[in-house]
Amino acid sequence: MSETLFIADLHLRPEAPTLVTRLHTVLERAQKARALYILGDLLDYWVGDDQPLHDSLRPAFEALKTLADSGVLLYLQHGNRDFLLGEKIAARFGFTLIPEYQRIELDGHPILLCHGDSLCTDDAAYQAMRAQFRHPAFQAEFLAKPLPERLAIATALRERSRQESSLKAQDIMDVNSDAVRATLDAQGCHHLIHGHTHRPALHRLTPPHALRAVLGDWEDAASLISHREGQLHLERIDESGTHIIDQAPLAHQPT
Ligand code: MN
Repeated sequence: MSETLFIADLHLRPEAPTLVTRLHTVLERAQKARALYILGDLLDYWVGDDQPLHDSLRPAFEALKTLADSGVLLYLQHGNRDFLLGEKIAARFGFTLIPEYQRIELDGHPILLCHGDSLCTDDAAYQAMRAQFRHPAFQAEFLAKPLPERLAIATALRERSRQESSLKAQDIMDVNSDAVRATLDAQGCHHLIHGHTHRPALHRLTPPHALRAVLGDWEDAASLISHREGQLHLERIDESGTHIIDQAPLAHQPT
Protein backbone atom coordinates (compact mmCIF):
# COMPACT_ATOMS: atom_id res chain seq x y z
CA MET A 1 0.00 0.00 0.00
CA SER A 2 1.87 3.01 -1.24
CA GLU A 3 0.32 6.36 -0.42
CA THR A 4 0.44 9.72 -2.10
CA LEU A 5 0.37 12.54 0.43
CA PHE A 6 -0.66 16.20 0.14
CA ILE A 7 -0.03 19.03 2.58
CA ALA A 8 -0.20 22.85 2.35
CA ASP A 9 -0.19 26.02 4.42
CA LEU A 10 2.35 25.05 7.06
CA HIS A 11 3.44 28.69 7.15
CA LEU A 12 6.77 27.69 8.69
CA ARG A 13 8.31 30.56 10.64
CA PRO A 14 10.92 30.86 13.37
CA GLU A 15 8.43 32.03 16.01
CA ALA A 16 6.34 28.83 15.73
CA PRO A 17 8.67 25.87 16.46
CA THR A 18 5.72 23.46 16.93
CA LEU A 19 5.16 23.55 13.16
CA VAL A 20 8.55 21.93 12.59
CA THR A 21 7.72 19.20 15.16
CA ARG A 22 4.45 18.52 13.29
CA LEU A 23 6.30 18.31 10.00
CA HIS A 24 8.69 15.69 11.43
CA THR A 25 5.68 13.53 12.38
CA VAL A 26 4.26 13.76 8.87
CA LEU A 27 7.64 13.09 7.26
CA GLU A 28 8.00 9.91 9.30
CA ARG A 29 4.73 8.74 7.75
CA ALA A 30 5.90 9.96 4.32
CA GLN A 31 8.93 7.64 4.38
CA LYS A 32 6.63 4.87 3.15
CA ALA A 33 4.82 7.09 0.63
CA ARG A 34 5.30 7.23 -3.12
CA ALA A 35 5.20 11.00 -3.22
CA LEU A 36 4.65 14.06 -1.06
CA TYR A 37 3.10 17.16 -2.62
CA ILE A 38 3.34 20.49 -0.80
CA LEU A 39 0.67 22.74 -2.29
CA GLY A 40 2.01 26.14 -1.32
CA ASP A 41 2.77 28.28 1.71
CA LEU A 42 5.30 25.87 3.15
CA LEU A 43 6.96 29.06 4.40
CA ASP A 44 5.22 32.07 5.91
CA TYR A 45 7.40 34.34 3.79
CA TRP A 46 10.28 34.02 1.36
CA VAL A 47 11.86 37.05 -0.26
CA GLY A 48 14.35 35.32 -2.55
CA ASP A 49 16.77 32.40 -2.44
CA ASP A 50 19.45 34.60 -0.84
CA GLN A 51 17.23 34.82 2.29
CA PRO A 52 19.14 32.96 5.00
CA LEU A 53 17.23 29.93 6.23
CA HIS A 54 16.62 30.52 9.94
CA ASP A 55 18.36 28.00 12.23
CA SER A 56 15.03 26.87 13.67
CA LEU A 57 13.74 25.94 10.20
CA ARG A 58 16.88 24.23 8.98
CA PRO A 59 15.99 20.80 10.52
CA ALA A 60 12.69 20.86 8.63
CA PHE A 61 14.44 21.41 5.32
CA GLU A 62 17.13 18.84 6.11
CA ALA A 63 14.39 16.29 6.87
CA LEU A 64 12.68 17.05 3.56
CA LYS A 65 16.01 16.57 1.79
CA THR A 66 16.55 13.22 3.56
CA LEU A 67 13.08 12.14 2.43
CA ALA A 68 13.78 13.12 -1.18
CA ASP A 69 17.18 11.39 -1.07
CA SER A 70 15.50 8.18 0.12
CA GLY A 71 13.50 8.07 -3.12
CA VAL A 72 10.16 9.61 -2.11
CA LEU A 73 9.12 12.09 -4.80
CA LEU A 74 8.90 15.56 -3.31
CA TYR A 75 6.95 18.26 -5.14
CA LEU A 76 6.48 21.88 -4.20
CA GLN A 77 3.93 24.30 -5.57
CA HIS A 78 4.15 27.99 -4.78
CA GLY A 79 1.67 29.66 -2.45
CA ASN A 80 0.97 33.36 -2.09
CA ARG A 81 3.58 33.61 0.68
CA ASP A 82 6.47 31.68 -0.84
CA PHE A 83 6.14 32.18 -4.60
CA LEU A 84 9.68 33.56 -4.73
CA LEU A 85 11.14 30.24 -3.64
CA GLY A 86 13.31 29.41 -6.61
CA GLU A 87 15.19 26.60 -8.27
CA LYS A 88 18.27 27.22 -6.12
CA ILE A 89 16.54 26.28 -2.85
CA ALA A 90 14.51 23.57 -4.59
CA ALA A 91 17.65 21.89 -5.88
CA ARG A 92 19.42 22.22 -2.54
CA PHE A 93 16.66 20.41 -0.66
CA GLY A 94 15.47 17.93 -3.26
CA PHE A 95 12.15 19.53 -4.26
CA THR A 96 10.77 19.53 -7.75
CA LEU A 97 8.91 22.80 -8.32
CA ILE A 98 5.58 22.27 -10.06
CA PRO A 99 3.52 24.93 -11.86
CA GLU A 100 0.57 26.90 -10.53
CA TYR A 101 -1.84 24.34 -12.00
CA GLN A 102 -0.54 20.79 -12.00
CA ARG A 103 -2.52 17.88 -13.37
CA ILE A 104 -1.58 14.48 -11.96
CA GLU A 105 -3.12 11.03 -12.16
CA LEU A 106 -4.09 8.87 -9.20
CA ASP A 107 -5.29 5.38 -10.20
CA GLY A 108 -5.93 6.76 -13.69
CA HIS A 109 -8.06 9.68 -12.44
CA PRO A 110 -6.90 13.13 -13.48
CA ILE A 111 -6.55 15.35 -10.42
CA LEU A 112 -5.85 19.08 -10.49
CA LEU A 113 -3.53 20.54 -7.85
CA CYS A 114 -3.31 24.25 -7.08
CA HIS A 115 -2.63 26.45 -4.08
CA GLY A 116 -6.16 27.87 -4.22
CA ASP A 117 -5.74 31.64 -4.01
CA SER A 118 -6.34 32.08 -7.75
CA LEU A 119 -9.84 30.62 -7.23
CA CYS A 120 -10.84 33.25 -4.64
CA THR A 121 -12.10 35.55 -7.38
CA ASP A 122 -14.70 37.34 -5.21
CA ASP A 123 -11.84 39.18 -3.51
CA ALA A 124 -11.10 41.63 -6.31
CA ALA A 125 -8.57 43.65 -4.28
CA TYR A 126 -6.59 40.50 -3.53
CA GLN A 127 -6.65 39.36 -7.17
CA ALA A 128 -5.34 42.75 -8.31
CA MET A 129 -2.45 42.51 -5.84
CA ARG A 130 -1.80 38.92 -6.86
CA ALA A 131 -1.58 39.84 -10.55
CA GLN A 132 0.98 42.50 -9.67
CA PHE A 133 3.10 40.20 -7.48
CA ARG A 134 3.13 37.42 -10.04
CA HIS A 135 4.29 39.71 -12.85
CA PRO A 136 7.87 38.83 -13.88
CA ALA A 137 8.94 42.49 -14.19
CA PHE A 138 7.59 43.28 -10.72
CA GLN A 139 9.41 40.28 -9.26
CA ALA A 140 12.68 41.18 -10.97
CA GLU A 141 12.47 44.69 -9.57
CA PHE A 142 11.68 43.36 -6.08
CA LEU A 143 14.53 40.81 -6.16
CA ALA A 144 16.96 43.59 -7.15
CA LYS A 145 16.31 45.37 -3.83
CA PRO A 146 18.73 44.75 -0.93
CA LEU A 147 17.76 41.81 1.30
CA PRO A 148 16.99 43.92 4.43
CA GLU A 149 14.59 46.07 2.39
CA ARG A 150 12.83 42.98 1.00
CA LEU A 151 12.50 41.51 4.50
CA ALA A 152 11.02 44.80 5.76
CA ILE A 153 8.50 44.82 2.90
CA ALA A 154 7.53 41.19 3.68
CA THR A 155 6.96 42.07 7.34
CA ALA A 156 4.77 45.03 6.39
CA LEU A 157 2.77 42.93 3.93
CA ARG A 158 2.18 40.19 6.48
CA GLU A 159 0.89 42.77 8.95
CA ARG A 160 -1.36 44.30 6.28
CA SER A 161 -2.71 40.87 5.32
CA ARG A 162 -3.54 40.11 8.97
CA GLN A 163 -5.43 43.38 9.36
CA GLU A 164 -7.29 43.11 6.06
CA SER A 165 -8.26 39.46 6.58
CA SER A 166 -9.88 40.31 9.90
CA LEU A 167 -11.99 43.01 8.21
CA LYS A 168 -13.02 41.17 5.05
CA ALA A 169 -16.27 39.24 4.83
CA GLN A 170 -15.62 35.52 5.32
CA ASP A 171 -17.32 34.49 2.08
CA ILE A 172 -15.14 36.58 -0.23
CA MET A 173 -12.06 34.82 1.15
CA ASP A 174 -13.34 31.40 0.01
CA VAL A 175 -13.11 29.99 -3.50
CA ASN A 176 -15.72 31.04 -6.05
CA SER A 177 -17.64 27.98 -7.27
CA ASP A 178 -17.82 29.27 -10.87
CA ALA A 179 -14.04 29.74 -10.88
CA VAL A 180 -13.62 26.17 -9.57
CA ARG A 181 -15.93 24.80 -12.28
CA ALA A 182 -14.24 26.78 -15.08
CA THR A 183 -10.76 25.78 -13.92
CA LEU A 184 -11.63 22.09 -13.65
CA ASP A 185 -13.26 22.15 -17.11
CA ALA A 186 -10.27 23.95 -18.64
CA GLN A 187 -7.89 21.35 -17.18
CA GLY A 188 -10.10 18.37 -18.02
CA CYS A 189 -10.36 17.22 -14.39
CA HIS A 190 -13.23 16.28 -12.08
CA HIS A 191 -11.17 16.40 -8.91
CA LEU A 192 -9.30 19.24 -7.28
CA ILE A 193 -6.98 19.35 -4.27
CA HIS A 194 -6.06 22.77 -2.91
CA GLY A 195 -5.17 24.71 0.23
CA HIS A 196 -5.00 28.44 1.00
CA THR A 197 -8.47 28.98 2.48
CA HIS A 198 -7.63 27.04 5.67
CA ARG A 199 -11.09 25.41 5.53
CA PRO A 200 -10.34 21.67 5.45
CA ALA A 201 -13.11 19.59 3.88
CA LEU A 202 -13.97 17.14 1.12
CA HIS A 203 -16.66 18.82 -0.97
CA ARG A 204 -18.78 16.60 -3.22
CA LEU A 205 -19.49 18.54 -6.41
CA THR A 206 -21.76 18.05 -9.34
CA PRO A 207 -21.39 16.07 -11.54
CA PRO A 208 -21.55 13.19 -9.03
CA HIS A 209 -18.17 11.84 -7.95
CA ALA A 210 -16.41 15.14 -8.58
CA LEU A 211 -14.50 16.32 -5.52
CA ARG A 212 -12.94 19.50 -4.19
CA ALA A 213 -10.56 18.44 -1.44
CA VAL A 214 -9.32 21.26 0.77
CA LEU A 215 -6.29 21.06 3.05
CA GLY A 216 -6.24 22.84 6.38
CA ASP A 217 -3.51 24.97 7.90
CA TRP A 218 -1.18 23.68 10.60
CA GLU A 219 -1.85 26.14 13.43
CA ASP A 220 -3.56 23.60 15.74
CA ALA A 221 -2.58 20.30 14.15
CA ALA A 222 -1.10 18.92 10.94
CA SER A 223 -3.58 18.67 8.06
CA LEU A 224 -3.03 16.01 5.45
CA ILE A 225 -4.79 14.47 2.47
CA SER A 226 -3.77 10.95 1.62
CA HIS A 227 -4.57 8.82 -1.38
CA ARG A 228 -4.59 5.05 -1.02
CA GLU A 229 -6.79 2.19 -2.22
CA GLY A 230 -8.88 4.42 -4.47
CA GLN A 231 -9.88 6.85 -1.71
CA LEU A 232 -8.94 10.34 -0.66
CA HIS A 233 -8.73 10.75 3.12
CA LEU A 234 -8.74 14.08 4.90
CA GLU A 235 -6.69 13.62 8.04
CA ARG A 236 -5.78 15.64 11.09
CA ILE A 237 -2.67 14.64 13.02
CA ASP A 238 -2.36 16.00 16.56
CA GLU A 239 -0.72 14.92 19.83
CA SER A 240 -3.38 12.24 20.36
CA GLY A 241 -2.79 10.61 16.97
CA THR A 242 -4.17 10.51 13.45
CA HIS A 243 -7.85 11.25 12.90
CA ILE A 244 -9.70 10.65 9.62
CA ILE A 245 -12.05 13.62 9.23
CA ASP A 246 -13.65 12.42 6.01
CA GLN A 247 -13.00 10.13 3.07
CA ALA A 248 -14.32 9.77 -0.45
CA PRO A 249 -13.64 7.47 -3.38
CA LEU A 250 -12.13 8.68 -6.62
CA ALA A 251 -14.77 7.28 -8.91
CA HIS A 252 -15.02 7.33 -12.67
CA GLN A 253 -17.57 9.59 -14.25
CA PRO A 254 -20.69 7.70 -15.30
CA THR A 255 -21.02 8.18 -19.03
MN1 MN B 1 -2.08 30.88 0.88
